[in-house]
Amino acid sequence: MSSAYDALVIGGGPAGAASAILLAASGWRVGLVEQHAFPRRKVCGECIAAGNLELLDRLGVGAQFRALAGAELRRVGWMHAMTTIAADMPACTVGPYAFGRALGRDHLDPLLLGRARELGVTVLQPQRVSAVAGTIGAYSVEVMARGEPARRLEARILIDAHGSWQRGPQVAGEGHAARAANRAGDLFAFKATYLRASISPGFLPVLAVRGAYGGMVLGESGRTTLACCIRRDTLAACRAAQPSLSAGAAVEAYLRRECRGVRELLGGALRQGAWLSVGPLRPGVRLGPRGGNFQGGGIFPVGNAAGESHPLIGEGISMALQSAAILAPILSAQPASAFDAERGAAAQYRYAAAWRAAFLPRLRLAATYAHLAMRPPLAAAAGAVLRRWPRLLATATRLAGKTRSAHISHLKSPELA
Ligand SMILES: Cc1cc2nc3c(=O)[nH]c(=O)nc-3n(C[C@H](O)[C@H](O)[C@H](O)COP(=O)(O)OP(=O)(O)OC[C@H]3O[C@@H](n4cnc5c(N)ncnc54)[C@H](O)[C@@H]3O)c2cc1C
Repeated sequence: MSSAYDALVIGGGPAGAASAILLAASGWRVGLVEQHAFPRRKVCGECIAAGNLELLDRLGVGAQFRALAGAELRRVGWMHAMTTIAADMPACTVGPYAFGRALGRDHLDPLLLGRARELGVTVLQPQRVSAVAGTIGAYSVEVMARGEPARRLEARILIDAHGSWQRGPQVAGEGHAARAANRAGDLFAFKATYLRASISPGFLPVLAVRGAYGGMVLGESGRTTLACCIRRDTLAACRAAQPSLSAGAAVEAYLRRECRGVRELLGGALRQGAWLSVGPLRPGVRLGPRGGNFQGGGIFPVGNAAGESHPLIGEGISMALQSAAILAPILSAQPASAFDAERGAAAQYRYAAAWRAAFLPRLRLAATYAHLAMRPPLAAAAGAVLRRWPRLLATATRLAGKTRSAHISHLKSPELA
């Protein structure tokens, strides 16, 4: 396989770009396929926790990130019905950065992908991976570009970074998982950006509303992001109540009606561009106990493709970047040409164990917070407790991972600095 890549990465979001950067910096020949042209907007709250800023430095984009991003996130809030409670954001005490920041995905994703290109990654964009065949050491990947015939690329290892909100490529020998039946509790995610919202720089309120949760933040260039998740049944009720509105506008009207904090912050705001939406989201672990795609042996899922936390805690980008930082050193400890079924299985095993240790507690906690936020009696009780002891909000934030280090001391840094 002389024309093969050592690793081919499927998807150019934070998980895919970070994996490509780290593997290329270790001397691997890396290709990356991203189906969309950048910059593109994406449904996301766009907040990056403090522990990842040092990781962004190691990836070689830290200075540019800090130059572009919004103010340090120093206050956290809880908004439910008529209640708004705010507390100081706990500082991250590990590493050089104490507070997280927010940056639009139309800036962050091109920044990371540009860095991958600088390190010699072949970026194929906009192109789509439609099918995968083969096994570890000899994968054959079908890539489609609009208006061109499909072509095949060869790679020893595949990094599945295609996210979780759409089907991944068809893997030969594996049927597509049957589409899950619709459930009332399925979550749909929405996002819009506004100018002239009256949110303070560095304030990160969480919104708790019957059947929905969300967050708001002032990012770069005076742009406020509102991102939220709403249950299928609640969305249907919103749309029925406001049949003349688009789904996004009906959701915004619902949030304004149910939550005084949203009404106040969006009072004189002007929405920029259309609402974005995705769904249904199914938070949970997709990585098996022995890694991903164990049969093929050489397909390693990172980011949302490996597992997804409820967006309420805003940790998905952290998990995307950090899963890449966990996986890349496991893979690059040996040359790509050394991988056979046995070594692939061993790497899958190590990766799965490290992934679970790093992220499972965060996933479980996020699920608990999400269910609490979406149920008014629980959200009201939480509000009463937080009003009495606002510092508990800081504790809840700390538990959600906002002050956690990205555990990057194992990454080789000189070539990435
Ligand atoms: C409402 C909401 C708010 C959120 N807020 C936050 C937040 O504030 N902070 C935070 O850290 N996280 C947040 N998240 C989570 C975060 O957006 C995701 O966890 C993160 O985007 C995952 O990164 P990823 O690289 O795994 O996947 P993605 O960012 O989804 O990237 C996957 C990429 O793969 C590409 N792709 C897919 N299929 C193919 C294919 N077949 N061929 C080629 N390319 C393909 C896609 O085009 C995409 O660019 C939020 C999520 C939601 C829904």
